[in-house]
Amino acid sequence: MNKEELKLSIERTIKVKYGKTLDKALDYEIFNALSLSLLENIVDDWNETTELYAKGKQAYYFSAEYLMGRALGNNLISMGVYDEVRELLEELNININKIEEIEEDAGLGNGGLGRLSACFMDSAATMEIPLIGYGLRYNNGLFNQYVEDGFQVEDGDYWLKYGDPWSIRKESETQVIHFEDMDVKAVPYDMPIIGYGTRNVNTLRLWKAEPLKEFDFKLFNDQKYDEAIRLKNRAEDITRVLYPNDSTEEGKLLRLKQQYLLVSASIKDIIKKHKEKFGTVTKRLGELNAVQLNDTHPTLGIPELIRILVDEEGLTFDESLSIAKCMFSYTNHTILAEALEKWDITLIKELFPRILEVIQEIDKRFIAELKAAGYSGNAIKDYRIIYKKQARMANLAIHVGSAVNGVAKLHTDILKETELKNWYELYPEKFQNKTNGITPRRWLRLCNPELSSLITEVLGNEDWVRDLSLLKNLEKYVNDKSVLNKFMSIKHKKKEQLAEYVKENEGVTIDPDSLFDIQIKRLHEYKRQLLNAFYILDLYYRVKEDSNMDIPKITFLFGAKAFPGYKRAKAIVKFINEIANLVNNDKTINGKIKVVFVQNYRVSYAEKLCPAADISKQISTAGKEASGTGNMKLMLNGAPTFGTLDGANVEIVNESGRENNFIFGLEVEDIEELGKNYNPKDYYEKNPSLKRVVDALVDGTFDDGGSGDFEDLFDSLLEEGDQYYLLADFQSFKETEDKVFEAYKDKEEWAKKCFLNTCNAGIFSSDRTILEYAREIWMVERKSL
Ligand SMILES: *Cc1c(COP(=O)(O)O)cnc(C)c1O
Repeated sequence: MNKEELKLSIERTIKVKYGKTLDKALDYEIFNALSLSLLENIVDDWNETTELYAKGKQAYYFSAEYLMGRALGNNLISMGVYDEVRELLEELNININKIEEIEEDAGLGNGGLGRLSACFMDSAATMEIPLIGYGLRYNNGLFNQYVEDGFQVEDGDYWLKYGDPWSIRKESETQVIHFEDMDVKAVPYDMPIIGYGTRNVNTLRLWKAEPLKEFDFKLFNDQKYDEAIRLKNRAEDITRVLYPNDSTEEGKLLRLKQQYLLVSASIKDIIKKHKEKFGTVTKRLGELNAVQLNDTHPTLGIPELIRILVDEEGLTFDESLSIAKCMFSYTNHTILAEALEKWDITLIKELFPRILEVIQEIDKRFIAELKAAGYSGNAIKDYRIIYKKQARMANLAIHVGSAVNGVAKLHTDILKETELKNWYELYPEKFQNKTNGITPRRWLRLCNPELSSLITEVLGNEDWVRDLSLLKNLEKYVNDKSVLNKFMSIKHKKKEQLAEYVKENEGVTIDPDSLFDIQIKRLHEYKRQLLNAFYILDLYYRVKEDSNMDIPKITFLFGAKAFPGYKRAKAIVKFINEIANLVNNDKTINGKIKVVFVQNYRVSYAEKLCPAADISKQISTAGKEASGTGNMKLMLNGAPTFGTLDGANVEIVNESGRENNFIFGLEVEDIEELGKNYNPKDYYEKNPSLKRVVDALVDGTFDDGGSGDFEDLFDSLLEEGDQYYLLADFQSFKETEDKVFEAYKDKEEWAKKCFLNTCNAGIFSSDRTILEYAREIWMVERKSL
């Protein structure tokens, strides 16, 4: 890219878009102008990539969530021009960090599932895989979170306030979507997904709902102004906001509308392109297109495809069903019962009656097949797609889909052996494992340029950014003092940077020389932030009793949003903040312990937290976390895992060695064995230090503002059976923390543990994951411009 040309383009854009000269431009104006100027440089490659992919078989990722985060820094890295642009801006007296920081995160997802789709987009482009992402362009992403008086407060996230320079609205590719009560437009906004080290640029297509008619002129003329815009609002409501998945009754109808708009628009888009090429629809449609369903949210795509093929393209139901069986595959993300989607058939009928008929027809044929194969009564019941007046989306996806995958080895095993056992017996050939991954571009190259430089220096080139397995070649330097010293001084530098950011954003001073123990993820009881909180409170009590207690100075950092309707999760946020308040303000402990709950944990905050961690806390109840990806980000940046043998932690420990991590607690088999005999009261009564911290919930130590929230948490443990086994795991947690403190004393041995985690994180690249999907599920070929 020509520097002088880029400068002229920025100046030109500032002039025509904002009517001023560059020296007067505000940060966001520079951000927009720079982004548009960069976009200009990749549009030709982007179009060529689209044409190239269209010549052969293509795959499509259907996802209701894409947790993209910021685009600018990532795109600069992918284009290979980050340093060049930084220098150019410097010459213009502009600090690139300030311009990056002005960008709002595109937070179009809740957590891990949405971040996975974002990593997959990046990896598919870099691995040159013909994959198109389809999703929804919510006007408001996941809520912004503040902490007031220790309580979580939510605020809307209008991420588009400065504009969205990286998306191109493709008006002419609009689709009309039919609901029983209204028709709306779905307008595509295309985001370029720029591959790293390749000219390929893939597409993420996000649909926005709009009215067919901007407003009703007659109503307006009759001075019925509210009425005139009512229909517009009703249409736009569909993609107005991302739902935090906290399944309250309200919002259900809108959520179902969202799902249908996503799949109907995307399927129509796929069929339209197929017909442009071949004229009509034949079974080749299924042979040339593969659709991956990211969880069950887009499962209505199956009946929508069949509906269109039967009603509009003149195929028979059998032909259409077999095309669907060829096209779709399904990824399972959780075994939590609350997440297994079921829709009342009355709701489906109300919005799209024909879709219900199609589902009923699939169900009917399926039952006939089962009967013919000798199944009866009870056995058939569990397979039914429609049961008790509800449509079971996972059953629909598994029955029709050609593959079903879990997201980590342990998770896939649990699906086969327990959760989906009956399905595994029926369709063993469909089950596959695809262990999740993360993109090395954002989660190392972008967020940790210092460590990236060191790796490049030691390995001699930057090939590792596209082939993360090359990190293994670092392992031979594990006894090289000079490399280890550099590695650890980078860690320290990242801790200083985080401390500065935390000071600015949370108003708390933390010491970069203390051990940074970090737990960042959505707030959920199964993730057990409460167990971590109990431990911290116990540690505080012990330090208070014995001021000479031999522990390193330690900072506990939490980052987590709680679903607005999830009362217990919000109570845990308050509890952590109460502990922080107590501990941080007690002068008698000499600042030995600090606790910080960072506000508004999101992708851009994760990019600052991951490189600064000394310990990665991954402490979910064994069997509950399907995979986790936060664990991989922290490992890649050189933090040992403190965790249970759950999800991908199992594979992390296998790769980097148990001796380089801190594993504690019950395993899946232990929990099965404990089963119904588990009595949390036994642990509570027999362990005074445990009793002391649990009692703190109800004995007046802390104030929950009169909400009764802390008493409810207490009841969840002692009255409702502690279903996530916090009390059973407390002692083991505590003993394992002691091992951390002991290990941390030996700086050199500690450095080796951290280093070996980075060296062995290669397998957790989402490049590896996406290649597995491409080869083993979609059967698509790599194609390079
Ligand atoms: C990676 C990531 C997650 C997923 O974290 P887990 O620890 O795997 O649950 C959630 N939110 C954000 C913002 C992330 O970047």
